[in-house]
Amino acid sequence: MAHSFHRAFPKDGKPSSVTISKDCADRYFVSMLFEEEIKPLPKTSTQVGLDLGLKSMVILSTGEAVGNPRYYAKDEKRLAKAQRRHAKKKKGGNNREKARRIVARVHARIGDRRRDYQHKLSTRIVRENQVICVESLAVKNMVQNHCLAKAVSDVGWGELVRQLEYKSEWYGRTLIKIDRWYPSSKTCHDCKHVVEDLPLDVREWVCPKCGVWHDRDINAARNILAEGLSVSACGGGVRPARGSARMGNPQRSRKVHSRG
Ligand SMILES: [Zn+2]
Repeated sequence: MAHSFHRAFPKDGKPSSVTISKDCADRYFVSMLFEEEIKPLPKTSTQVGLDLGLKSMVILSTGEAVGNPRYYAKDEKRLAKAQRRHAKKKKGGNNREKARRIVARVHARIGDRRRDYQHKLSTRIVRENQVICVESLAVKNMVQNHCLAKAVSDVGWGELVRQLEYKSEWYGRTLIKIDRWYPSSKTCHDCKHVVEDLPLDVREWVCPKCGVWHDRDINAARNILAEGLSVSACGGGVRPARGSARMGNPQRSRKVHSRG
């Protein structure tokens, strides 16, 4: 049995529970629950705003765009082929069951690869920054066009933000989610002028008031950082998930998975 541990076992640890499960791709999972003390990371002065994008998964207020691997789009052909094969097999037969398992495996592989990527990204962002500002997804979805729904779910923002949330709590970082509507893309970061209309396909623009050139996403990320910091200082409109507000070293539970 090949083991691929998502995380190393804690030293001298004994699991408080062990569960074995099977998913719909016929893969077996061993899940062990450990009590572990997670130490907050040393404090840093770095703060970052994140704009959740489509072309890139995340654009940082530093100007860095972190790639969107679009795993689903890449594997879509493979998936379509497996699904066609499955549909052609006779109902109730052995071959149909085999074909179903192949479809489930492609789905599972897509999910695994995406999650691995998101974990690397969220860990890096939390390690490098003390304060992380992000738009809440309800707000983000409000400004998206319906045709983009599939691309949006492909990027997997929801899972990324969830990971940022609990990792911030683990490591003593502050995650600020901007809940209220705020025109992060349409506001000029330099002079605060708000343009009336900025269609999604406009990637670069020049502020009509102050003449500064903007990359759409970087400008938005910088505004999200500024807005997050200012609203959190006033205490309204945001729902801060604060790891640093908790004192001491609380015991937290973590699951360690091993795939066989
Ligand atoms: Zn301006």
